[in-house]
Amino acid sequence: MPGFELFGDKERKELNDVLENGVLMRYGFDGMRNGHWKAKELESELETVLEVKHAQLVSSGTAAVSVALASAGIGAGDEVIMPSFTFVASFEAIMMLGAIPVLVDIDDTLTMDPQAVKAAITSKTKAVMPVHMCGSMANLEALQAICKKHNLILIEDSSQATGATYKGKPLGSIGDLGCLSLDFVKIITAGEGGAVLTNNEAYYRHADHYSDHGHDHVGKDRGAETHPFLGYNFRISELHAAVGLAQLRRLDEFVTIQKKNYTILREALSEIPEVTFRTVPEGGEESYSFLSFFLPDLETARKASSAFKDHGVDACFHYYDNNWHYIRKWEHLKELKSLYPISNEVKEGLKYLQTKTFDQSDHYIARNISCLIKLSWTEAEVKARAEKMVKAITAVL
Ligand SMILES: *Cc1c(COP(=O)(O)O)cnc(C)c1O
Repeated sequence: MPGFELFGDKERKELNDVLENGVLMRYGFDGMRNGHWKAKELESELETVLEVKHAQLVSSGTAAVSVALASAGIGAGDEVIMPSFTFVASFEAIMMLGAIPVLVDIDDTLTMDPQAVKAAITSKTKAVMPVHMCGSMANLEALQAICKKHNLILIEDSSQATGATYKGKPLGSIGDLGCLSLDFVKIITAGEGGAVLTNNEAYYRHADHYSDHGHDHVGKDRGAETHPFLGYNFRISELHAAVGLAQLRRLDEFVTIQKKNYTILREALSEIPEVTFRTVPEGGEESYSFLSFFLPDLETARKASSAFKDHGVDACFHYYDNNWHYIRKWEHLKELKSLYPISNEVKEGLKYLQTKTFDQSDHYIARNISCLIKLSWTEAEVKARAEKMVKAITAVL
């Protein structure tokens, strides 16, 4: 990760197909497009690769989460359980619909703790949204059991773990709905883009219409289509879909490269007794997009993180001090800094953030470092990097 490191002829070829006829929109203009339907083609290939009945492309991963929630009928006042460690998109998408994000602790998988989910369920809870962070997954079997028992919708955010599997199934295909991002820094990129995945016919139809102003897409003239319900514009363009198509066809190649690089780094760090690794749930196979490990305490992790920088080891993240991924630095959420008025229901629903502590999440995130695995490294570069990492960690222990 990211796929853009290997942008090349295949991506250019797909893009050129679109540029030759100039139809940059995914719907309509049938006569002008010389048979090129990149978004439709990408959806069909995503369905095959990710083993779902339906994939609906949208304009971003954040849009995918919003569209997935809307498709399942989640809206004003509904509570959606999400993890404390994720990307800001999780609560943005929930709040866009007037729903309430209920943040819960993560465990040593670096994803949502099923026990914390159980404790957070109320009469308003509608959905549970695990986020498969840094290439590995939440315990989906435990979460599925909870959702079944309490009649909740399970929505997987697999934006950072495309290519990973759980008990033989691709992430994103296991919950009622799955979301993925094709933004510029993800394992397969379209520049910008995302997809909603589902086996549920109604959710798919909702996602298809909702992401295009509520258009029913019945195959008549676009101007004559009706609007069974309200929607927005979350469409992907043909240009983005074309790049995504070339990249999806390289997913296996990318995962193989990641696994190779990951394994070299992991074997080197395994020599240090103080280093432990994140837990991968039984039956899980990572996408190897990150190598995530724990150091003994916060101070050591901070020192290691800065020693990495001194040694030129880039792309390693200590999320405890990071603005994007962890509740600790989300002042804009905790203080509800909104440009426009927020409903009293959501304000009330978010009051818990003033007092709730996330001690269990802190316990893991404070000690965690996650290193991005790049696709463009040569073997010599990975080996040199492994050596530098071992040296940097050993020096601060
Ligand atoms: C990147 C990301 C998103 C949002 O994707 P965009 O395409 O950037 O909007 C959502 N969730 C997670 C976990 C992500 O990493």
